[in-house]
Amino acid sequence: MKNSNFLFKKNNFKKARLNTEARLEVENINVSYGKNIALDNISFVVEEGENIALIGPNGAGKSTLFKALVGLIPLDSGKILIHGFPAGYHIDCVAYVPQKEEIDWMFPITVFEVVLMGRYSNLKTFSKPQKKDSEIVFSSLEKMGIKELAHEKISELSGGQQQKVFIARAIAQRPHILLMDEPFTGVDLSTKETILSFLNDSKKNKITVIVAIHDLNIAAKNFEKVILLNKKLISFGKPAEVFIKSNLNKAFGDQIMFLNGMAFLDECCPPDDYKKNVGGL
Ligand code: ADP
Ligand code: MG
Repeated sequence: MKNSNFLFKKNNFKKARLNTEARLEVENINVSYGKNIALDNISFVVEEGENIALIGPNGAGKSTLFKALVGLIPLDSGKILIHGFPAGYHIDCVAYVPQKEEIDWMFPITVFEVVLMGRYSNLKTFSKPQKKDSEIVFSSLEKMGIKELAHEKISELSGGQQQKVFIARAIAQRPHILLMDEPFTGVDLSTKETILSFLNDSKKNKITVIVAIHDLNIAAKNFEKVILLNKKLISFGKPAEVFIKSNLNKAFGDQIMFLNGMAFLDECCPPDDYKKNVGGL
């Protein structure tokens, strides 16, 4: 089958990066693992510089959506356009901070080496990192307040420090679009504050950010828009429009309870199919 990406030569893409906005268009995408449908006909458009919270129960397809956006998982059907160009021509402008569970924290690598990886997609083919790359690594570490950890092994860090290292790696990539998978899970309050202040700076720098979050309060207070997902797109819009009882019931079922107009999420009971698929709790 003819690959439509073939039509876009690298030079055209570079031009596109300069001349078009970092708009993310997701059109009717479907993704499955064997017979298990993870994303069912998802469509949405995120404009340059918007910050979006991605909300849904365990197994809703949040991580799958991120992996599809960075090309780690093939689409069954549908289309993803970034800068108006098909996924694949934007590798260096989309940064992805994976969920902590997906990283091998025992791998013998230093903080500096992890963050330097963020520079690889910016390097010319076969060229070695330059002094400038090293400077970018240190300034990214500084932004996360962990410059002094540069030569530590990642296995020796706390959960919050590890999260900051991977955010620094994403910063070093100088992305136009940043995807973060549950960065607030299992981190201390000061790390949460560092991440929130970084999100604020990203807004000023027109970086488009999508963050998977469990905490509805953080999403409502700090994000312009919310994607509510449970395999299907349940709702997409401003938090006040999305976080209504009928939508939350549709997404979370029995996991959500309402009391005096407040929503409470019971996070200790993932849905049955999640337990079955990943061996769950
Ligand atoms: P979330 O990040 O919202 O918890 P995921 O994207 O991890 O959801 O998972 C969506 C669905 O896809 C779940 O049913 C999960 O069991 C399944 N799934 C995720 N990763 C895999 C995989 N590598 N192989 C098979 N099924 C998977
Ligand atoms: Mg996930």
